[in-house]
Amino acid sequence: MAFILPDLPYAKDAFGDILSAETFDYHHGKHHNAYVVKANELVAADPALQGKSLVELIKSSKGGLFNQVGQIWNHSFYWHSLSPEKTAPSGELLDKINAAFGSVDALIEKLKAEAVGHFASGWAALILKDGNLEVTSYHDADTPVAHEGHTPLLILDVWEHAYYIDYRNARPNYADRVLKEAINWDFAAQNLDGEGVSRADQPG
Ligand code: FE
Repeated sequence: MAFILPDLPYAKDAFGDILSAETFDYHHGKHHNAYVVKANELVAADPALQGKSLVELIKSSKGGLFNQVGQIWNHSFYWHSLSPEKTAPSGELLDKINAAFGSVDALIEKLKAEAVGHFASGWAALILKDGNLEVTSYHDADTPVAHEGHTPLLILDVWEHAYYIDYRNARPNYADRVLKEAINWDFAAQNLDGEGVSRADQPG
């Protein structure tokens, strides 16, 4: 069975000028889709890879295939990390944020600094590690799925293709607006159950 390009969990014009429909046309329709197409070509060419789920392939591959399957998962998880309706952390997630960072604003500033400071392409992320929240980043197609003990709560794409249409070269402006106005904190809270990796998985 081939991997598919998952539908966006919202309309592509739902974010107004935070993220334009044109950005989703390219980012989801072209970039994310290209990773799906290339991963399927690599899997089709090697019977040993067939029948493995996306997450199984991420954990067992390196090089070219790793890049494609990692990016399929990362983008699928990223779409769910965004919300066109403004949300806010509450309950257990808010308690953990306050314990680890002092406040939601302080966490957002830390995520922004991680996103802006990550050299070249990659992903800024909020993860649960050893029971505590941490802000980290992953380079290129690297993904929390490949790191034992990294439980992903939300990720932010900081590849240039994520923001160039709406913000040109201004990664700080993209990170600032998305982190302050368009994060799906309900999704992040749901992922405290440790099942986040499976929420962007696909069967082989
Ligand atoms: Fe991307």
